[in-house]
Amino acid sequence: KKPVIAIDGYSSTGKSSISKVIAEKLGLIHLDTGALYRGVTWFALQNCLNEDGSINLDHLFSSFDQIELEFKNDHGELILFLNHIDISKAIRTNEVSDNVSFVAKQKEVRDFLLHSQRSLAEKGGIIMDGRDIGTVVLPNADYKFFLTASIDERTKRRYNELISLGIEADEQQVKENLIERDKIDSEREIAPLKQAEDAIVIDNTHLTKQETIESILSHIQN
Ligand code: C5P
Repeated sequence: KKPVIAIDGYSSTGKSSISKVIAEKLGLIHLDTGALYRGVTWFALQNCLNEDGSINLDHLFSSFDQIELEFKNDHGELILFLNHIDISKAIRTNEVSDNVSFVAKQKEVRDFLLHSQRSLAEKGGIIMDGRDIGTVVLPNADYKFFLTASIDERTKRRYNELISLGIEADEQQVKENLIERDKIDSEREIAPLKQAEDAIVIDNTHLTKQETIESILSHIQN
């Protein structure tokens, strides 16, 4: 049976891009759960705003039945659709990044997304990356990893990612957003960002992407 692998860690430690490569190598499905939280946040910013521009949570919570999230497989790459619209690029904007942790700390939002994450893993053969996969979503995963790296290294990576997506970015702003999100994600009451007791911790500040991948694979193949 193919394994279930959980990859958690801080923002911009390379969780998703690393998971994608490992999925290809081992023939697994890859689910980037951050994209789901970003998708709900994008929906809220489009449809559930107060007059002052803040997100109206009650409106959002009563709109869940109007949100259909779906991943489509495009040559091995999963593209996120919300109500049949491709939002894979829209969810990377600063506006979404600035609001996603506020949305993700709401119990209603986490409950809404929990079921689909778990049901995708029922048949095995999946690598899922996020913040609470090893602790809450898939506590019985076959392998759990927790990635960390220094804030400056992570800032550099996220900045380069945004530039390569054609999204305007400012390094200081990127850094502040990472610090702010890590703080909210770690301090929230429900499913906070933390390493599972049985997770293998990898600090990849001084590792290349390829070296991190090899480190993870060495644990899985042994
Ligand atoms: O992984 P990414 O940086 O795209 O995640 C965006 C945000 O989604 C995180 O900062 C966090 O607030 C939320 N998230 C979460 N639980 C997960 C994955 C992401 O709360 N499993």
